[in-house]
Amino acid sequence: MLSLLNRYVDWLHLQWPGGTEEPLPRVEADFSTEVPGLFVVGELTGIPLLKHAVDSGARVARRLLPECEKSPEGIVPLVIVGGGVSGLSAAVEARRLGIDFQWFEAARMLETVENYPIGKPIFTDPPGHSPQSTPRTSF
Ligand SMILES: Cc1cc2nc3c(=O)[nH]c(=O)nc-3n(C[C@H](O)[C@H](O)[C@H](O)COP(=O)(O)OP(=O)(O)OC[C@H]3O[C@@H](n4cnc5c(N)ncnc54)[C@H](O)[C@@H]3O)c2cc1C
Repeated sequence: MLSLLNRYVDWLHLQWPGGTEEPLPRVEADFSTEVPGLFVVGELTGIPLLKHAVDSGARVARRLLPECEKSPEGIVPLVIVGGGVSGLSAAVEARRLGIDFQWFEAARMLETVENYPIGKPIFTDPPGHSPQSTPRTSF
């Protein structure tokens, strides 16, 4: 019974900090923010869709390639915060492009998707949209 309750609490994502509502960050069309060097992708942009998460993560990694190539020896040019769909997409693309990166995940990789209710239909909106991605890259 306790383990059932624990699973339910996890599914509700109660392990993450709650409390006051935070406004979404202001994000430009190229996913840049008013903080230099900080880019926001995926659901934090206000669009809660898998395709958008994949697309935005890969796009930002591509956009950052020229800057990352100029990074001095020994400096990690890219830090990815979050091992969700968009973070994974950014990491896959960065790996494909040869960008060195550090990756931080607070809980478990792909936890949001792992916690979808069993049997839930997966919506693939917007119809006909093919996100930028490189699914054949392996880790
Ligand atoms: C129940 C449910 C059903 C859904 N169904 C659909 C669907 O059918 N179709 C669809 O298109 N979309 C669906 N979505 C939305 C889709 O899952 C999200 O849009 C997508 O997962 C967003 O990807 P993301 O990488 O931005 O965020 P997430 O996948 O949520 O990943 C964020 C990651 O960041 C980590 N993190 C958070 N804070 C920190 C920190 N400070 N440091 C390090 N790591 C941190 C978290 O642990 C998490 O792993 C659904 C969402 C939910 C919750």
